[in-house]
Amino acid sequence: MKRSEYRYGVIGLGGIGSGVAYWLARRAGENVLGLEQFELGHDRGASEDHSRIIRLAYHTPQYVELAKSSYDAWAILEQEAEEELIVTTGGLDFFPAGGPIPLEDYSEPLISCGVPIEVLDSTETMKRWPQWQLTDDIVALYQAAGGIAPAARCNAAHVRAARAHGATLLERCAVEAIRPIGDAIEVVTGDDIYRLEKLVIAADSWTNELLAHLGVEIPLTITQEQVGYYATPHLDDFSPERFPVWIWHDASDYYGMPVFGERAVKVAQDVGGDEVTARSRTFEPNPDTLQRVEDFCRSFLPSAMGPLASTKTCLYTMPPDRDFILDALPDHPNVLITLGAAHGFKFASLFGKIMSELAIEGDTEHDISLFKADRPILSMENPPKTFTM
Ligand SMILES: Cc1cc2nc3c(=O)[nH]c(=O)nc-3n(C[C@H](O)[C@H](O)[C@H](O)COP(=O)(O)OP(=O)(O)OC[C@H]3O[C@@H](n4cnc5c(N)ncnc54)[C@H](O)[C@@H]3O)c2cc1C
Repeated sequence: MKRSEYRYGVIGLGGIGSGVAYWLARRAGENVLGLEQFELGHDRGASEDHSRIIRLAYHTPQYVELAKSSYDAWAILEQEAEEELIVTTGGLDFFPAGGPIPLEDYSEPLISCGVPIEVLDSTETMKRWPQWQLTDDIVALYQAAGGIAPAARCNAAHVRAARAHGATLLERCAVEAIRPIGDAIEVVTGDDIYRLEKLVIAADSWTNELLAHLGVEIPLTITQEQVGYYATPHLDDFSPERFPVWIWHDASDYYGMPVFGERAVKVAQDVGGDEVTARSRTFEPNPDTLQRVEDFCRSFLPSAMGPLASTKTCLYTMPPDRDFILDALPDHPNVLITLGAAHGFKFASLFGKIMSELAIEGDTEHDISLFKADRPILSMENPPKTFTM
């Protein structure tokens, strides 16, 4: 067995893990190791697609402040990678009157954080975005910074920049065991053993498989989600310049994006998939979810509909409160865990920064007090699950 030593290691080089590798490499260069079980850019996890929504619109001031910092982190990567990544389209959040999520849940935190917003009734919204067909009871919140994080390109930029700083990033290199050895951590892959001072686990749907080596388990729900790309005949109407990213907050949540990456409009249901594991998931689209999405569009966004150009399946991994986990493990202080709770891509670079600060300094300037690994709900027997946000 070949042994080698690094100060910092990351397991998983998806959207968040590649961000962690980059931010660690900015400070520790060649002392950084990243391990990915599949090929880089694979589509078996949660981070490979043309686009992910980035937004400031969130339901607590803490999230809003974190979202602000996520734009700063991407801007630093864009500069270093010499590539423009984030595409601003504006963002619309829709709130049906009497729905489970009142507009104020979003407008108040944004206002308290000094973020400019517009609240529009259905008539005003349809005047500005005639693609929408809204009933009178629909109120919209518009926030100008909403946009697209081009997921696959962001991941590739993180990997490129991490390697440019000297990091060793290995693909098709599955971690098979994790062993605490004194103050160090040993990670075993095939014929190799790597000795590390600090390890970051960024493994999303595979998180508990890795934590099992440390006798730890976190209550996580994994669902197989899917997105549909519809070849609308009105492509221009859905260009990024004319159609903002959007989220519909109701008993069933839907979301979508302008034409980006494919000549089609992307629409999906949030938490619309069946519960699976990272190993039991399939790549078969669920016709019932597709039907729900198409019914929604026929009601509220009819001109987006066209032939289904393609669908993609993907995994959501959610703690019961759907809040992130950004912390060291209580009983293993040199093992850190980062989990995006199925809304983490927009934060991928910022999480990289935060995890690098926790690994190197043991602390971060960002307020992550909500995202502790030992918060009570994570050690409850049957925690109540709240995935709508
Ligand atoms: C359909 C869909 C739409 C979404 N939309 C948005 C959105 O609009 N905005 C947003 O912010 N977020 C969104 N999200 C959530 C976001 O994409 C995820 O939170 C984020 O991508 C998670 O990144 P990750 O790196 O933790 O996970 P992953 O990309 O899944 O990476 C985990 C990696 O760990 C690797 N790994 C696991 N076990 C091992 C092992 N033993 N050895 C080595 N490697 C291992 C895996 O192979 C994988 O590459 C969406 C998610 C889905 C599924």
